[in-house]
Amino acid sequence: MDTKELKEKLFYKPAHMATVVNEDVTKKAFDFAEGYKAFMSGYKTEREIAAYFEEEAKKLGYTEFDKSNAYKPGDKVYRVNREKSIILCTFGKKDVSNGVKIVASHIDSPRLDLKPNPLYESSELALFKTHYYGGIKKYQWTTIPLSLHGVLVKGDGTKVTVNIGEDENDPLFVITDLLPHLGGEQGKRTLGQGIKGEELNILVGSLPFNSDDESEAVKLNILNILNEKYGIVEKDFITAELELVPAFPAKDIGFDRSLIGAYGHDDRVCAYPAAMANFAMTEPEHTTITVLTDKEEIGSDGNTGLNSSYIKYFVYDLAENIGIKGHDVLSKSECLSADVTAAFDPTFPEPMESRNASYCNKGVAIMKYTGSRGKSGTSDATAEFFGKVRKVLDDNGIVWQTGELGKVDAGGGGTVAMYIANLDVDVIDIGVPVLSMHSPYETIAKLDLYSSYQAFEAFFAAK
Ligand code: MN
Ligand code: MN
Repeated sequence: MDTKELKEKLFYKPAHMATVVNEDVTKKAFDFAEGYKAFMSGYKTEREIAAYFEEEAKKLGYTEFDKSNAYKPGDKVYRVNREKSIILCTFGKKDVSNGVKIVASHIDSPRLDLKPNPLYESSELALFKTHYYGGIKKYQWTTIPLSLHGVLVKGDGTKVTVNIGEDENDPLFVITDLLPHLGGEQGKRTLGQGIKGEELNILVGSLPFNSDDESEAVKLNILNILNEKYGIVEKDFITAELELVPAFPAKDIGFDRSLIGAYGHDDRVCAYPAAMANFAMTEPEHTTITVLTDKEEIGSDGNTGLNSSYIKYFVYDLAENIGIKGHDVLSKSECLSADVTAAFDPTFPEPMESRNASYCNKGVAIMKYTGSRGKSGTSDATAEFFGKVRKVLDDNGIVWQTGELGKVDAGGGGTVAMYIANLDVDVIDIGVPVLSMHSPYETIAKLDLYSSYQAFEAFFAAK
């Protein structure tokens, strides 16, 4: 064996996916991306996404789970949690005493929420106060088109749903910034302080209600418009969940159209293929569960997040359905914690460790652990479980890579993996590498999106 052959045999060198798969796979990846882009442009918040997948699931024969029903292999059920998270489940040939297979991803993304008392008038401009949700670089959210999504619960208990800024005839909203001519003092702030939380104010109008000089006439005019359209009054903002998100549609990026730019790839780029993989199951070996959760971006706490009991209760109900104990199912179960990671950015290589970074187009990234500092705040998967997942992917010819979220001590981040691991489930992190993660317009590679779909499907279908 010469040196070259021996190197090929012994070295590990992850390759560009396009160089190792055939053209058919690349074409499938580009086709898959078309459905993904339409989904990304149409559904941007946890409520909209949960409702979308509920509708899609129903079309495919999923019914609401009823633990008093008897289910057979291939039956499909769902459960929606408070309109903000959804569980999709396809029953396997083996009953759940053999454990279930879970793919978990999140459908909330960083954004700007309205404060309880958002609306005010200043210098005859009407504005909304916001409170950011999740980790953002605040300066990135000024001077971009924003749309308003969410619900208000009125005094009589009825609910109003709002979606303004996505239709091409809708108005948009915007956060203003200082012109560079007068930005001298602002320019001396650190980048992190360049725009402060209390400066993320949304411009929502400028016309007075009428020509008399009543104060706050612009605010009054806005409330009057909202009252005429939705029947709401100012107090209804207190009992509301209103979210501002970037109004950009998802679009191809690059001359070769190999990438996609969109708001909220984190983590819809995993949620979409995770749902599609469940939809694709006919009679899997094990019962397969896709859970699309809320609240990951603020630490998974709250009853729609995975640090609550709702996924455990669902599995317990599956167990009770066949007369066994819930923990006997969980202890034999396996999970892919499907969430994005940072893609290596050649413009900003400094916080990355190039030998242990994830790259665009090298396939879905599987990470034994996430967390920060000395592996704090993570589930560190066992070598045995990683080995099992690796074999499934390798046996199915799926291109994958590994990586860490930046250099040791450079920062870090967590996922839902540890909350699922705490249920005594084997779990590992897997996800699509993202450029400009948590920005209003993130970028991913189409091949990596497709690789994640292939991985979730193979995991679900495995014996
Ligand atoms: Mn995420
Ligand atoms: Mn995130």
